[in-house]
Amino acid sequence: RIVHVNGSFLPEESASLSIFDRGLLFADAVYEVTAVIDGGLVDFEAHQQRLRRSLGELDIAFDPEAEDLLGIHRQLLQRNDLREGLIYLQISRGVADRDFVQPRGTPPSVILFTQALPLLEAPAAARGLRIITRPDLRWHRRDIKTTQLLYPSMMKSTAVAAGVDDVWMVENGEVTEGSSSNAHIITAEGQLITRPLSHDILHGITRAAVLDYAAEADLEVVERPFGVAEAQAAREAFATSATAFVTPVVEINGHPIGDGAPGPGTRRIRERYIARSRERLQY
Ligand code: PMP
Repeated sequence: RIVHVNGSFLPEESASLSIFDRGLLFADAVYEVTAVIDGGLVDFEAHQQRLRRSLGELDIAFDPEAEDLLGIHRQLLQRNDLREGLIYLQISRGVADRDFVQPRGTPPSVILFTQALPLLEAPAAARGLRIITRPDLRWHRRDIKTTQLLYPSMMKSTAVAAGVDDVWMVENGEVTEGSSSNAHIITAEGQLITRPLSHDILHGITRAAVLDYAAEADLEVVERPFGVAEAQAAREAFATSATAFVTPVVEINGHPIGDGAPGPGTRRIRERYIARSRERLQY
């Protein structure tokens, strides 16, 4: 693979970052993951907007406008001949001798790499996800997309060790989100229930896209929190993320959702999401 580090494209074996990088020592870094299908970028602009917001909230002095991030994304796709998968972009506060006080004026470290993955025909989309719930023990600024991913990584590993696919995290009796996805349910009345945006969850780009056209799929959107029992009793449940698109949830804590198979509402939303993304790919 060819990767990108601070302005250079080079083979992954030759790429390196300082051991004093703030991203490594303090998770003082933000990231974005953009899906690639048919060789094009999905929702690139929305990811850039969220990146700018994350950088602003942490006061990391990197100006995405001044750097040609789209050009770098394009070059990396071309150099790796990537048709389907993802591009990962991470920006840390940069390199400084280890100190809890954040340094000022250090040039941020910028890395990008690609991963080839089957997204359109992902097995989980056909099969559906089995979920368990766990307390949400993350910090309270989950709206900032930082690389502090220890807890979500522990939760995903807990799920796999338990023989299921993922964890939905719960706080004050309500589902916040999945370990790397937003959580949604569809009620018997055809309402799409999803937790409102706040500091409690990541403001998912896929979530926003789905809510934009839910009405076309005959779903009324209601933004309110929901609990585990309500999710278990829902007609359908699904997760959204840039790389999983819209993925059905078929079981929560051993309890089947609906008839325990991926439902028609989720399938419609997934198909629409893919069609819409294809119409707007950025090359
Ligand atoms: N919540 C969390 C905690 C995530 O890590 C992700 C994926 N990055 C999402 C939600 C989904 O966001 P998006 O649709 O922008 O990928």
